[in-house]
Amino acid sequence: MANMQMNKTPMKEQDPNVRNANFLEVALGYTLDEAVNEAKRCIHCKNPACVTGCPVGIPIPDFLAKVAEGDIAAAYEILSNANALPAISGRVCPQENQCEGKCVRGIKGEPVAIGRVERFVADWAAEHGVSNLATAPANGHKVAVIGSGPAGLTCAGELARMGYAVSVFEAFHTPGGVLSYGIPEFRLPKAIVQREVDNLKKMGVDIELNMVIGKVLTITELFQRGYESVFIASGAGLPMFMKIPGESLVGVYSANEYLTRINLMKAYKPDAETPILHNKKVAVVGGGNVAMDAARCAKRLGAEVHIIYRRSEAELPARAEEVHHAKEEGIIFDLLTNPIAIEGDEQNHVKAITCIRMELGEPDESGRRRPVPVKGSEFETQVDAVIMALGTQANQMSYAGTPGLEKTRKGCVAADDHGCTSCPGIFAGGDAATGAATVILAMGAGKHAAKSIDAYIKQKG
Ligand code: FAD
Ligand code: SF4
Repeated sequence: MANMQMNKTPMKEQDPNVRNANFLEVALGYTLDEAVNEAKRCIHCKNPACVTGCPVGIPIPDFLAKVAEGDIAAAYEILSNANALPAISGRVCPQENQCEGKCVRGIKGEPVAIGRVERFVADWAAEHGVSNLATAPANGHKVAVIGSGPAGLTCAGELARMGYAVSVFEAFHTPGGVLSYGIPEFRLPKAIVQREVDNLKKMGVDIELNMVIGKVLTITELFQRGYESVFIASGAGLPMFMKIPGESLVGVYSANEYLTRINLMKAYKPDAETPILHNKKVAVVGGGNVAMDAARCAKRLGAEVHIIYRRSEAELPARAEEVHHAKEEGIIFDLLTNPIAIEGDEQNHVKAITCIRMELGEPDESGRRRPVPVKGSEFETQVDAVIMALGTQANQMSYAGTPGLEKTRKGCVAADDHGCTSCPGIFAGGDAATGAATVILAMGAGKHAAKSIDAYIKQKG
C-alpha cells in the first residue's frame, strides 16, 4: 500500500552554523528506512508524468518500486541502465523543474523526493560494491568526445554500453567539467564525481586529460586519426563582465575563476599549492546558482558576503533550495541593487564597490520586470573582493576553424535537439550548443547525441 504522507521524508543536513565554516557535504542523505518510506509514497501512475520530466527517461516508478520492496540492487540496475551518472544527478539535477515538478503527488502535497531516493540508491550501490558495467561486444567503431562535463560523460557512457570505443578529450587535468570545477564540494563531493568517472573507465571509456582540442589536435585531425564521429561538449566556460570601471583591480574575480581555484585547485585547504586570499567582505554580483555557489564558498573562507542583484527576490534565477541554503548560512542579499564602479586603493586592490538602487519597471523581452536605476541613489560600500557571477559564453576554441561547421549568432555550435550539426559526423550538445550554464545537467543532450551518433555510424555502414 502506498504511503500517503503529504510531505517528503526529510533528509538530514549539517547545521547551517556549522556547515558555513566547512566544505563537507550539506545534505547527509537518506538511511535505508527513510528511502523505503519515501519510495512508498509513489502511487505508480498509469502514465507516469515524472518520466516525461526526466531528460534521460529513467523509468522512475520501476526503480521506486524496487526500493519500496527493499531490493536496492535491482533498483540500481534499473536506474543505471538509463542514467550514467546517478549519484551526481540525484544530488544536483534541478528535480523541482523536472521529474518532481511533474509528479502528481505534488498537486496536493509535496512530490515524491525522486532525487533523494536516486542518490540513496547510487550511494548504496557504491558502498556495497554493486555495479552495472555491462557493455555490448566491441563493434569496431571509434568516437571522440570533446569535454568531460555531464554531456560528454553521458554520451561516452551510452556509446560504451553500445560497444563503441570512446575517447574523451578534456582540456583540464581533471575530468568532470562544471561538476569538478564549478559545483562546490559541499554540494557535490569530488570523490563522487571521480567514482562515476571510474565506472565509465571500467566500461572501457578512454579519458585523455590535458588535451585542448583546437590547440593540441583539431577536429579535422581527430577524423584523420580514425574517429568516425566527434561529439562537441566543450561547455560554456567563458565568463562575462559588466564593463564597469575597476573590473581589472586585484580582487575582482569571475565566479568561474574563483570556483575553479577553490574546487579544482583545492585552494580552500591550508596546504594548497595555489592558495586564495581569505577576504573580509565580499560582494558577489548576480542571482543565479553560480552566484550562490561563489557566495557560499566565500562565506566558508570566513568573509561577510553580500549578493548584489538588480531585481527582486521573486526574479532570482537560482534554485529556491540554493537561495534558502545561502540565507540559512548567513549570506546577505542586497536586492534591487546594481554595481556601477569598483574602487581601488593605491596598490590597485579592491577597496569598495559603488552601487545604485533599482526599481522594477515594465516586463522586458524575458517576461521579467525590467530593473530601472533610481536617480541619485548611488552609495559606496567597503569590500575587499568582488566576484562577478553574470553568466558565461561558449568557448569556441575546440571547433573554431572546423570547415563547414555552422555557428549560432552567439558563437555556439548550431545543433538540433538530437545534437546534429551542419557537418556529417559532428554532433554537439550541452552548454557548447546552448551557450550558457543552463542549470540542467546536460545529460539529456549527451544521451540524445549518443543515439544520433549510433544512427549515423550504422547508416554510414
Ligand atoms: P561543462 O560541464 O562545462 O563541461 C565542458 C568540459 O569541456 C569542461 O571540462 C572543459 O574543460 C572542457 N573543454 C572546454 N574546451 C575544451 C577544449 N578545447 N578541448 C577539450 N576540452 C574542453 N546545473 C544543474 O543542473 N544543477 C546545479 O546545481 C548546477 N550548478 C551549477 C553551478 C555552477 C557554478 C555552474 C557553472 C553551473 C551549474 N549548473 C548546474 C549548470 C551545469 O553544470 C551545466 O549546464 C553543465 O555542466 C553543462 O554540461 P556540459 O557537459 O555541456 O559542459
Ligand atoms: Fe510515482 Fe510521482 Fe511518478 Fe506518479 S508521477 S509514478 S507518483 S513518482
